[in-house]
Amino acid sequence: MSNDNTSIHDFDFNLICEYFSSIDRQGPGSPGVTLKALSFVDHLTDESRIADIGCGTGGQTMVLAQHAPGQITGVDLFPLFIDLFNQNASRLNLQHRVKGLVGSMDKLTFQKEELDLIWSEGAIYNIGFEQGLKEWRKFLKPGGFIAVSEVSWFTDERPAEIDQFWQDAYPQIDTIPHKVAQMQNAGYVPVASFILPETCWLDHFYKPQIAAQEAFLKKHAGNQTAEAFIANQRHEEKLYQKYKAFYGYVFYIGKKL
Ligand code: SAH
Repeated sequence: MSNDNTSIHDFDFNLICEYFSSIDRQGPGSPGVTLKALSFVDHLTDESRIADIGCGTGGQTMVLAQHAPGQITGVDLFPLFIDLFNQNASRLNLQHRVKGLVGSMDKLTFQKEELDLIWSEGAIYNIGFEQGLKEWRKFLKPGGFIAVSEVSWFTDERPAEIDQFWQDAYPQIDTIPHKVAQMQNAGYVPVASFILPETCWLDHFYKPQIAAQEAFLKKHAGNQTAEAFIANQRHEEKLYQKYKAFYGYVFYIGKKL
């Protein structure tokens, strides 16, 4: 794999965790977009059970909790993120309704048909969009909703440089109609899909990283892995700036039949 196309998966997880725990969100998104996706979900009550899979430090979970009733369980692979998640819940006095647990999205321990809503922003790629939709479906009650955001192509064709980057990083990237069809084939009614505005990347994701990167490089001065990781983050941002007409994140909301 060429250095240009090194993906985030190739770096030391502890360093990645440390870096991403210094910013509010670990993927593109915004409170406005979380609420827009939530607007397609109905029938939630105080009794509802909600899971946020790949919740990170909980930026989107806390927004969800402030605008939807019910109990929310956040699940993430990384204990450091879950510690921060639970601290965030307590800080906002949401600790009775919002709990973070360490766990893996391919070994979830929810009961069959326990959940009214499955949420997952910028994380389902870790299991794969289709596989995640299929595997998680059993945890939803009939009539329950799933809302996930996923990187997607906006056009059928795109320049070779960005095509190659994503084929290396996430070969399951696909166009919106294909993703919607995958959702339908997995047993959901595709209720809505919408493209996240560019501000979700530029203002909410990349902008807070400028200061985070400076601090991180200062702390890890001389550490080649850390330097390569930051160089990779900056390369990804440049690619986004150059090719944002061709790809981005898309929210897909589905309802279990
Ligand atoms: N939802 C958050 C975080 C997105 S980043 C946000 O939008 O800000 C992707 C998250 O998936 C990270 O927090 C990462 O730790 C988590 N993750 C990666 N592999 C995972 C797995 N197998 N199981 C659960 N979480 C995982």
